[in-house]
Amino acid sequence: MADFIVAIDGAAGSGKSTTARGVARRLNFFHLDTGAMYRAFTLKCLRTKKDEINQELVNKLIKKTRIVLKKEGDEYHTYLDEKNVSLEIRGPEVNKYVSQVSAIPEVREWMVHQQRAIAKNKNVVCEGRDIGTVVFPDAQVKIFMKADIKVRARRRKKELAEKNINVDLNDILKNLEFRDQFDSTRKHSPLRIAQDAIVIDTTNLTIEQEIDLVEKIVRARLKNL
Ligand code: C5P
Repeated sequence: MADFIVAIDGAAGSGKSTTARGVARRLNFFHLDTGAMYRAFTLKCLRTKKDEINQELVNKLIKKTRIVLKKEGDEYHTYLDEKNVSLEIRGPEVNKYVSQVSAIPEVREWMVHQQRAIAKNKNVVCEGRDIGTVVFPDAQVKIFMKADIKVRARRRKKELAEKNINVDLNDILKNLEFRDQFDSTRKHSPLRIAQDAIVIDTTNLTIEQEIDLVEKIVRARLKNL
């Protein structure tokens, strides 16, 4: 079997990353975290010219940027121009600018092209905002995850604390609200539920329950192939 795609979309903190990681591990699929790719490119923009992230800069940088998601042991790492930036891409600066950078059509086109190339001849759990709608509209399984925003903010705080990044809960909440709004209303590939997606509300679910649920859905689909 080749090219089985599980597309998981949802807002920040909805549980999609943890679920995608867990399901990919259990099924031995590749975990394609597209948010990490947008974050890495945002970091590159910030490092190059923080005050002026515009179309011209972006077009120039696309041509000389290399983003790689590498599996090392049990973990995935994000490499930007051969350097491991897995930690930096989760910081507040990237959080602040990533939605603006991601809304630029040239960036999205370039990303989608790379994401399809990465998934070629692989079984993949791919997570993001436009996976079931744009990147892989023919994905065998499409999931859309949602959760109450306060729960999402608390999850994000815990996740960051585990990486020794300490951010105020209120700042996280504000950033989530801002990104939700920006990502859902942008002109190009906004965050929306694919028509054939299964919607899962994770507000009252544990991580284990989320992973179990999605794994069950994927296994049922695999059986019916
Ligand atoms: O998933 P994560 O929160 O790491 O994504 C960071 C940002 O990258 C999102 O807020 C969104 O602006 C952008 N993104 C996107 N399309 C994707 C994945 C992420 O626009 N497929």
